[in-house]
Amino acid sequence: MLDELIGTDRLHEACGVFGIYGHANAANVVYYGLHSLQHRGQESAGIVAADHGRFNVHKGMGLVTEVFINGNGELSGDVAIGHVMYANQKSTVIEAQPLVFKYRGGTIALAQNGALINAPMIRRRLEQQGSIFQTNSDTEVIAHLIARSRYDDLELALQEALAEIKGAYALLVLGEDRLIACLDPNGLRPLALGRIGDSYCFASETCAFDLIGADFLRHVQPGEMIVISQNRIRSVQVAEEKPALCSFEFIYFARPDSNLTGTMSVHQIRKQLGKQLAAEKPVEADLVLGVPDSSLSAASGYGEALGIPFEMGLVKNRYVGRTFIRPNRETRTRDVKLKLSVVQKVVEGKDVVMVDDSLIRGTTSQRIVRLLRDAGVKSVHVRICSPPVVYPCFYGIDISSRDELIVAQKTIEQIRMFISADSLEFLSVDGLVRAITGGPDLSSGGSGLCLACFSGKYPVPIDQQS
Ligand code: SF4
Repeated sequence: MLDELIGTDRLHEACGVFGIYGHANAANVVYYGLHSLQHRGQESAGIVAADHGRFNVHKGMGLVTEVFINGNGELSGDVAIGHVMYANQKSTVIEAQPLVFKYRGGTIALAQNGALINAPMIRRRLEQQGSIFQTNSDTEVIAHLIARSRYDDLELALQEALAEIKGAYALLVLGEDRLIACLDPNGLRPLALGRIGDSYCFASETCAFDLIGADFLRHVQPGEMIVISQNRIRSVQVAEEKPALCSFEFIYFARPDSNLTGTMSVHQIRKQLGKQLAAEKPVEADLVLGVPDSSLSAASGYGEALGIPFEMGLVKNRYVGRTFIRPNRETRTRDVKLKLSVVQKVVEGKDVVMVDDSLIRGTTSQRIVRLLRDAGVKSVHVRICSPPVVYPCFYGIDISSRDELIVAQKTIEQIRMFISADSLEFLSVDGLVRAITGGPDLSSGGSGLCLACFSGKYPVPIDQQS
C-alpha cells in the first residue's frame, strides 16, 4: 500500500485477526495466517496458544517476521489466536494483541479488529467504579465487561458484554476450552470461517486460508457468535443482523485475492469499480496508470472499458523499509521518488489517466501528479475509484475529523488545481454500490454496505459514542 511509502495521506486499517481450534500446531498455523493479513496492520503482532488451560503468549512491535524471528515453535497448544495491529493511537507493546486476562472464570485471550464508539463512556464508568485499565485498547473494555458479568459461563458473559458495546468489532475470544468468534450487528469488518482437516479457523480475510490450505466455508454473519468447543461448532445469533460492511474494504483495505462477498474476489470487484468509473467519467487518453498497489485492478478495469491500454507507468520500491525516517518538508519530494518511480519511457509525451482508489488529504495525488509531469507527460487526468470522502469514520479507520478531508474543505475544481491535474473526477455513490453488489444504490439501508464516510449516514448512530 502506498500510504506506508509516501506518508499519511491514506486511510489506515485497524487490524487483522486469525484463530484456529483443534490443530496440533495451532500457533504455527496462526503465524502463517498472520503473514497473509500483514497488510491490515504492521505496528505489532502477537499469538496466544492455549495448551490444556495454560496460555502461551508471544507478541511485540513490528512485522510478523520481526516479532517471530525464530518462528513460533515455543507456543504449544491446539487452540490459538493471533493479531496484527495498526493502532489509531500511539501504542506500545502493552497494547499489542491478543490481550490476556485472568478473571474468576479462568484465563481468556482477546483479539479484535474494529473500534467501539462507546468504549470511552464505558471505560469512564468502570473507572469510577474502581476498575484499573492497563491499556488504551477498546478490547480491554470488553474483557472488563466479561469479568464483571453476572454470568460465570464465558459464552453468556460475552453475550452480555456484546449487548453493551456499540461500533465495529470482529472479535476472537480464546477460552480455556473453546474458541469464540463474534461479529458486530452491522458486520462492519470482515470475518471468515474456514476449515483445514478437522480444524475450524477464522480469519479477517480469506486470503489467509489460501496460504495455510484451509477451505473457506462462509463469512461470519453480522450479529453472529460462533462457538467451537469439543470439536463441535455452534452458531448463535446474538443480535439482529443489519449488514453494513465497510465499503473501503473493497476499495482499498482488503487484499485483491480475498473474497468478501462469497462470489467475486476483491480484484474482480475493483475491476468493476474501474469499469463503472469509466462509464461515468470517461476521458480520451493514450494510456491508463494505476497507483500501486491498491489501484491497479481498478485501473485495468477503467482501461479495458474504454479500450485504452493499461500500462505499468508507476513502480513502487518494495524495499524501502518501514524504519525509513519520515521526511521533513525539504526532503519530501526526494522521499516520494525514493518510494515511487515513473517509467519515463512509458509516459513521456502521453495523455495519461491516473487511477487512484481514494483521495483523502490530496497530498499524495499532488506528489504523484508532479512526478508524472516531471517525467514529461502531456496531460494527467485523475480518476478516483471511490466517491468523495466527506465525513469521518468512527469505526476504526483513522479519519477522525472533517478537517483532515480535502473534499470537506475545497471544491472539486479547487482540488484539481491543488493537485495540478488536467481533470479530476470521482465515482458516484450509486456507482460504487452497483459495482460492489451488482445492484442499484439502496444506501438508505439496503445495500449491505457502510457508506458513511461518503454519505454521512452512519449505520451505528454516532450520538452513541463517548
Ligand atoms: S465510515 Fe467509511 S471507512 Fe468507516 S466503516 Fe464506514 S465505509 Fe468504512
